[in-house]
Amino acid sequence: MKIRHCSPRPALNECSLESCAYQVDPYIGCAHLCHYCYALNGAETNWSREILYYEDIQTQLATELEGIPAQHIYMGWKTDPYQPCEEELKQTRRVLELLHSRGFSVSILTKSNLVLRDLDILTSMDQSAISLSVAFDDENTRELLEANTMSTLARIEALKECKQAGLRVSAMICPVIPYVNDPIPILEKVTPFVNKIWVYGLSILDESETNWKNIDDLLKKKYPSEYSEMRNAIFDRTHHFWAELRAEILDACSRRSFDLSIHI
Ligand code: SF4
Repeated sequence: MKIRHCSPRPALNECSLESCAYQVDPYIGCAHLCHYCYALNGAETNWSREILYYEDIQTQLATELEGIPAQHIYMGWKTDPYQPCEEELKQTRRVLELLHSRGFSVSILTKSNLVLRDLDILTSMDQSAISLSVAFDDENTRELLEANTMSTLARIEALKECKQAGLRVSAMICPVIPYVNDPIPILEKVTPFVNKIWVYGLSILDESETNWKNIDDLLKKKYPSEYSEMRNAIFDRTHHFWAELRAEILDACSRRSFDLSIHI
């Protein structure tokens, strides 16, 4: 894996989420290599070969933040801020240090327990929120679809530690792939450690998208008998699979109290 500086570009970008006006991605590319990744649709590099990073993200971001009032910044839009190389490069940590010094807070989405390294900064920020993305109860399926991610168990442990540290914590159960992974066992495992659970299906609009091309052959090969119905459900949100799953999730959550946001 080549890790090198990116060409000059803004580090602070607008964010379309309701809760955040700006986002920062400390890396370009993502070595977690999730086959279904929606960010692959606009990928600039081959993520299995190279990851780019800003030459001096702290100085650059300090300039870009001039005149922007302290607020909540999103991290985890088109890359995971806790790449394997973050352990050494500390780009995300530098961003957090700067944001903290200026009174900002963050909302982070990651699949890595490396986020625990930065609990000292995150807990000093006002109202920071951490979300761990976790979708596969079965480790073989996780390894098949997210080649380089941490185990599900490690992510659930990370949720627990973030919650114990006093952070606002959510689990993003994403993606639900019809007839491949069942979100209910994951939901039951994460419930004690989160304030909120999000559930999302596989995000692919049509067959021309890069992430569909990336995952299609894999699904066909590994799930030959389910493939046809799976494909129908992926491209049709009125398919009975989604209505049945929604009902199952609501039933599983009916005796628990946490914020649930279903997007399937
Ligand atoms: S961790 Fe997120 S950004 Fe990285 S490959 Fe997976 S889905 Fe894409």
